[in-house]
Amino acid sequence: MPNFGFKHSKKTIRKMLKDRKEKKNAFYGKKHSKEAKRKMRKNHTDVSGKNNPMYGVQLFGKKNGNWKGGITYTQRFFKKSYVYKKWREAILKRDNHSCQKCGKKSNIVHHILSFKDYPKLRLDIFNGQVLCEEHHKEKHRKENT
Ligand SMILES: [Zn+2]
Ligand SMILES: [Zn+2]
Repeated sequence: MPNFGFKHSKKTIRKMLKDRKEKKNAFYGKKHSKEAKRKMRKNHTDVSGKNNPMYGVQLFGKKNGNWKGGITYTQRFFKKSYVYKKWREAILKRDNHSCQKCGKKSNIVHHILSFKDYPKLRLDIFNGQVLCEEHHKEKHRKENT
């Protein structure tokens, strides 16, 4: 039994040492990754600048990454969001799923003041209206958005 105890404690010590080593490594790793993170953040900031020619390239896989590309990116994600869905549903319900120009049934919700230029009104119930495909296209054609 004492032998076992000794063996056991030796094992424990070895384990403790191993743990400590690992902890030490983890600590160094952390420090390193913190630095790496800072670098990454710095790099990220560098490439996300509007005026940086690299902006959007990685994100969109397009050569001409520009500010407009950024909008498309935001819009695509925004339109998948829960809040947007709720906003859309509310407008569809209010407008009875029918085009506000001709009354045709539709489920297209249009931003009266553009999504791009009025980010604060993206979820404003007064800034949405249901339009049929035809009138929606007409709106965008007229406003050139
Ligand atoms: Zn629209
Ligand atoms: Zn219509």
